Amino acid sequence: MRTISVLGATGSIGASTLDLIRRAPDDWRVLALTANGNAADLARLAREFGAEIAVVADEASLPALREALAGSGIAAAGGAAALVEAAARGADLTVAAIVGCAGLAPTMAAIECGKTVALANKEALVSAGDVMLAAVARTGATLLPVDSEHNAIFQCLHGNDLADVRWITLTASGGPFRDWTLEQLHTATPAQAIKHPNWDMGAKISVDSATMFNKGLELIEAWHLFPVGLERLRIIVHPQSVIHSMVEYRDGSTLAQLGPSDMRVPIASSLAWPARMGTPCAPLDLAAIGELTFRAPDEVRFPATRLARQAAEAGGAAPAVLNAANEIAVAAFLAGQIGFTQIAVLVERMLERYAPEAPTTLDAVIAVDAQARVRSRELLESL
Ligand code: NDP
Repeated sequence: MRTISVLGATGSIGASTLDLIRRAPDDWRVLALTANGNAADLARLAREFGAEIAVVADEASLPALREALAGSGIAAAGGAAALVEAAARGADLTVAAIVGCAGLAPTMAAIECGKTVALANKEALVSAGDVMLAAVARTGATLLPVDSEHNAIFQCLHGNDLADVRWITLTASGGPFRDWTLEQLHTATPAQAIKHPNWDMGAKISVDSATMFNKGLELIEAWHLFPVGLERLRIIVHPQSVIHSMVEYRDGSTLAQLGPSDMRVPIASSLAWPARMGTPCAPLDLAAIGELTFRAPDEVRFPATRLARQAAEAGGAAPAVLNAANEIAVAAFLAGQIGFTQIAVLVERMLERYAPEAPTTLDAVIAVDAQARVRSRELLESL
């Protein structure tokens, strides 16, 4: 039996993770489950899984959590420090599934324990790549990529030498607007953006998928996780989302990982790694799918991947600035304050205007992130 903590337990990745745990109750003991403000769902999950502690990041939700857990014997806590403490409980496996850079400090706390961290929270790695990987190297922690593309690449690289890699190709569904014209994109609404054709995900990543910032963040994520150099990382649009990514080697062999569009597959791969476990996912029926198609990304309609590549090339604080600006822009778009195409405009302007020194510590990354958010909000006013 292994111990597990799920940071972001009430979200989409949290639900998929707990669904797998529910099916193998003898394999896992749950230490910490966390949420932001959703005390009711968190308490329900904590009771179901017999967690040791449930934590809400938003302290205002702590009274509701306490009330919902009364008499259960499960500890309740609230606030940023409590979240970090819960992550630092040293579970054998911590699933980092908070959305946004808000997940950075708790994810780093889990890494500091030197155990295994299954990382879904891509924004944390994008913002703090060097700092996070230095902590992984120092503590001997194991970082397993949950993001379906990176999990696919991780599987395709197994047993191979990075020096033999010619290309790593990230596949992208292209999102719900992949066939829209630029004029149509100007009118895209939040409701349309969060309706992904293939995947069922949280609101923020769904918008990122529609703008292609998701693929941009993933490019930076891959650049950190698989150090083959930015020039060996490519993106291809593959609308069916069956091939989750590919690695081409110098002998001309291309290895690809295929699977259903269900996050329980890459999560199961991380939970069981280096072994395998069963999932309830339907087997891949290629005859029913019929065709797999591919096309080059269009960086005129979707500038996000160009901006992410520029940020990675610039290095230093640029990826953290890109991520923070995108988080602010997505929140503003979801709140109806800016149009869909203004998300990329805001990010591009922030990259042009704000170039702080490269952060070398966790606190410095958090400071860059905070400052970039303040400036992004100011810039929002001018849009
Ligand atoms: P959701 O929005 O569904 O869930 C987010 C989780 O994080 C919830 O538990 C939420 O709590 C919690 N949370 C939100 N804000 C904060 C905060 N400020 N402090 C602490 N906790 C917070 O997101 P997803 O599950 O879709 O995504 C999670 C991460 O996984 C993201 O980084 C995403 O990019 C990545 N990912 C997601 C995939 C997917 O299929 N969904 C695929 C690949 C990667 P509450 O419920 O209380 O708001």
